[in-house]
Amino acid sequence: MPSIIRPFDQDVDGHTEWDGPMFKLAQRQFLNAAKVMDLDENVRDRLLFPQRSLMVSFPCRRDEYDEVETVFGYRVQHVLTMGPTKGGIRYHEDVSLGEVSALAMWMTWKCALMELPFGGAKGGIRIDPSKLSRHELQRMTRRFTMEIIDMIGPDRDIPAPDLGTNEQVMAWIMDTYSQQVGHAVPEIVTGKPVVLGGSLGRTEATGRGLIYLVCEAANHLGIDLKHSTAVVQGFGNVGSNAARFLAENGTKIVGVSDVSTGIHNPKGLELNSLHEYLDQHGVLKGFPGGQEVTNSELLELDCDILAPCALQNQISAHNAGRLKCKLLAEGANGPTSLEADQILQDNGVFVLPDILGNAGGVTVSYFEWVQDTQNFTWTLEEINNRLHKIMVGAFQRTLLRSQRDKLDMRTAALIEGIERVAKAKLLRGLFP
Ligand code: GLU
Repeated sequence: MPSIIRPFDQDVDGHTEWDGPMFKLAQRQFLNAAKVMDLDENVRDRLLFPQRSLMVSFPCRRDEYDEVETVFGYRVQHVLTMGPTKGGIRYHEDVSLGEVSALAMWMTWKCALMELPFGGAKGGIRIDPSKLSRHELQRMTRRFTMEIIDMIGPDRDIPAPDLGTNEQVMAWIMDTYSQQVGHAVPEIVTGKPVVLGGSLGRTEATGRGLIYLVCEAANHLGIDLKHSTAVVQGFGNVGSNAARFLAENGTKIVGVSDVSTGIHNPKGLELNSLHEYLDQHGVLKGFPGGQEVTNSELLELDCDILAPCALQNQISAHNAGRLKCKLLAEGANGPTSLEADQILQDNGVFVLPDILGNAGGVTVSYFEWVQDTQNFTWTLEEINNRLHKIMVGAFQRTLLRSQRDKLDMRTAALIEGIERVAKAKLLRGLFP
């Protein structure tokens, strides 16, 4: 029958509402995997766009009382089939509907790959949080929570921290939501402080999960972590913890970076001194224990393991051929372009793709939500053991599929996730 809609990839200008480079990357990765797995076309077209997208603009009063700025916020739920939706809230000056939608789609595949009972979501505010005072940040967070309150809920959609947000921001969201319903609802967010019902081990879970995978991959590749070197891009929550756990495994950290600079020392960087320097100066620039390099030079340093743990779009056709690492461990979401993937594959670089690599965060978020809904607490040992089991299980399934079907690790991981969602969609059927 003739289609009742205009084809999904074109409107009058050849754009969709969600347009943007990151959303295009997420869609192309998905379409690529859908083709390889011969996904049902009807299901494919349903999964190509988010189910719900909310865009809001709202006022934020600055500390100068008569200054009010209009800011833009988003919450996107990609798939509602699997259970409540789950995903972080990002504060960054480049946040857009397309970026949040790409991240929501990746959350869907990530949760499905880890076999968590969630669909994917993401939210964000287009703001540079470093320019706001604590009061401004709190007011903005509370107002944003009110703007999206009909969309979120412990059984509907559960936010968490992402770039530019932390456990304090989660505490304000939890408080704002709880004030509205009249009682404490800790299970509305994950990644909140432990005294408010947060989970032990959540803060470091993404970095810890990534290094559990690095250990598995090293084993598979015959790399001895005790005689290896690593470069970590980004020294925020994910990067600094990844560096810490790598060092605990005996790996020498020869490069790190933050927004201000990269630091290189082939003899190895002292992590404690880096933290002390950061506490005093706020940024890595000027750190005396190594040589300064740019963020792009950092990626091309000699090392066995490269862990991009900062922003998206770092490894492209432009620099992928110059990477020296044997293992690329993606802590960030969307750091590598499709063209770069091909080059890495040709050069024999083993990739731990983002939806697997950084899934430790949402996995412990799931544990947090389970503990909150059951009014129960687990020990750190229980959390880490369960995290380890889930990460290693997902790694083995992905590796097996990649070997069996001769696929790169990213496509294998995507197919693992997509297959589960497609199965669930077909079983639930259509309403009406
Ligand atoms: N923002 C994190 C991610 O991208 C965590 C999401 C969550 O814990 O819900 O995976």
